[in-house]
Amino acid sequence: MSKKVVIVGGVAGGASAAARLRRLDEQAEIIMLERGEYISYANCGLPYYISNVITDRKKLLVQTPEAMKKVFNIDVRVNNEVTAINPDKKEVEVLDHNGKVYRESYDYLILSPGAAPVRPPIPGIDADNVFTVRSVPDVDVLKEFIEKTQAKKGSSCWRWLYRFRNGGKYPSIGYQNNNN
Ligand SMILES: Cc1cc2nc3c(=O)[nH]c(=O)nc-3n(C[C@H](O)[C@H](O)[C@H](O)COP(=O)(O)OP(=O)(O)OC[C@H]3O[C@@H](n4cnc5c(N)ncnc54)[C@H](O)[C@@H]3O)c2cc1C
Repeated sequence: MSKKVVIVGGVAGGASAAARLRRLDEQAEIIMLERGEYISYANCGLPYYISNVITDRKKLLVQTPEAMKKVFNIDVRVNNEVTAINPDKKEVEVLDHNGKVYRESYDYLILSPGAAPVRPPIPGIDADNVFTVRSVPDVDVLKEFIEKTQAKKGSSCWRWLYRFRNGGKYPSIGYQNNNN
């Protein structure tokens, strides 16, 4: 009987595991559950999209659920969040973003839930003009802000962290002080 594999997370780790698994086993039932809207996107391209080196947003999206179904026969479910794991029953509980809760059984479970950006407790960190660049939705928000405000200059988090740890001074090497 074929094995059933459930993968939690659909970006680099989850999507690579799913594709590799398919190459190893043509019969396995593979289900990839992603709580966000997008899978398998190019995180490394996100800053290039912000700076307009990449202008076509579609180029960030390496795979779509439809293509993964067609090419690899993988059942990809976006907007489906795993909310609990029951290892005794070999089941996960899933909340789809329409509000439906269901259970999915598995023989093997792969967890690839990634990470979220750390937002250090710096005064002002919750301001409307402080962003994180981790995901496609992150850059959508930032891009819209830049377009609306015609913002020209930015400051990366490491610079802020450096300042935070060094009494407000900027790093002295390789940094053009165009922020205040
Ligand atoms: C701007 C930027 C540039 C980068 N550049 C490079 C580079 O040049 N070279 C390089 O090697 N690496 C680069 N990286 C790092 C690389 O992109 C990450 O290491 C990689 O994306 C991690 O993939 P992941 O699948 O482990 O995690 P993630 O990308 O975090 O994906 C995990 C996914 O799991 C989902 N998830 C979490 N919990 C659940 C749940 N309970 N149910 C369902 N889904 C869930 C999340 O929604 C998320 O989409 C870069 C990262 C960024 C942000």
